Amino acid sequence: MTLKDKNLYYVGGVVRDEILGTQSFDTDFCYEGNAIEFARKSGLNIIKENPDFGTVRVTPPQTSPSRECDPSIDIASTREETYPQAGHLPVIKNIGCSLKNDLKRRDFTINAMAKNTVTGDIIDYFGGIKDIRNKKLKVLHSKSFIDDPTRILRGLKFAVRFGFELDDETKKLQDDYLDNINYDMSYHRLKKELKETFNLNKEEAYKKFIEQGIYKLLGGNITPSQYFPSREGVSALIDKYKPYKPWLVWLGFFDLSNLELTGEEQKIIDSIPNVKPKNNFETYKLFNNLPLETVLLYALSIDYDIAINYLDRLKNIKIKTTGKDLKQLGIPNGKIYKEIFDFLLEEKIKNPQTDEIKLVKEKYGFI
Ligand code: ATP
Ligand code: MG
Repeated sequence: MTLKDKNLYYVGGVVRDEILGTQSFDTDFCYEGNAIEFARKSGLNIIKENPDFGTVRVTPPQTSPSRECDPSIDIASTREETYPQAGHLPVIKNIGCSLKNDLKRRDFTINAMAKNTVTGDIIDYFGGIKDIRNKKLKVLHSKSFIDDPTRILRGLKFAVRFGFELDDETKKLQDDYLDNINYDMSYHRLKKELKETFNLNKEEAYKKFIEQGIYKLLGGNITPSQYFPSREGVSALIDKYKPYKPWLVWLGFFDLSNLELTGEEQKIIDSIPNVKPKNNFETYKLFNNLPLETVLLYALSIDYDIAINYLDRLKNIKIKTTGKDLKQLGIPNGKIYKEIFDFLLEEKIKNPQTDEIKLVKEKYGFI
């Protein structure tokens, strides 16, 4: 059995990526009609059905055209979406509608194409192929950003990923929206797109984010000039030290309170110390238990050299002496161990060549 049917289409990013000649992140399928009934009728191994959305998750057949590594694939029924509450999740209607109506609800023309799994025909009602050729991002209708402002960030993400620009009309719609933002929106989705965009770690994304005023979507009172004199070198810093959350290094100085940060994310931002340590040991103590992202934010906002000295040198300094060593020296177990370890670390930080045991003997006199 293969995953082919005259009503089954590849849809969205995978079609775009094939035309672009780039590798796809995932393979989305869309069935013109009811995907759940299709999966049942075709004897596919169904993992999960979601009748409210008309989607079904199945195990890919051996000869399936999806990427071999996919443990499961999702097939969506064609559907329409409406936005009774602008900026919030859409309401689904007409599951099993025409392919054309399904494609109409999508974000950009380049993502609104389908490819038939039997004939290989590309279905391109809205000029997606032409827009790929011209490197343009174009929304499908003038209310697109009002319905779903996260599309502005998706546009930024695709612009940066593919080197595309907004087409003139779409840019105007974006400007209009950013002049009149409805802050009652789904920040959950906005956060997802922000993460994906800034985890790409491209200076270009930040530049456009500021220049086009996209940052205004975050809400809050801060304007860019208040917190970022310059963001040059951020990308190199992230490439060098590889934090888990590059997006927070890019955006950590914005007011992110609308995004419902996790405890871990909030800690990264809240623990940026506003002091300048006077020596290496103070520096070590200051940064020792802080997340890497926080140290990088310190480098960018308070003192670059102090933070880099920590990351390149001090962070790697460790003492070799263990509790066992101290015991062998005849030092009775107790609070003093911590004092000795701190003392040794301080001396090691001052002078990495320090002979630890010799120093303990000298200082504590257990010989
Ligand atoms: P990627 O390569 O990043 O996965 P993608 O285009 O496949 O890009 P997905 O987020 O996987 O993006 O979404 C799949 C498809 O769903 C898109 O190609 C687009 O057609 C549609 N889509 C996703 N998000 C939206 C949205 N906010 N508004 C309208 N359509 C969307
Ligand atoms: Mg995708």
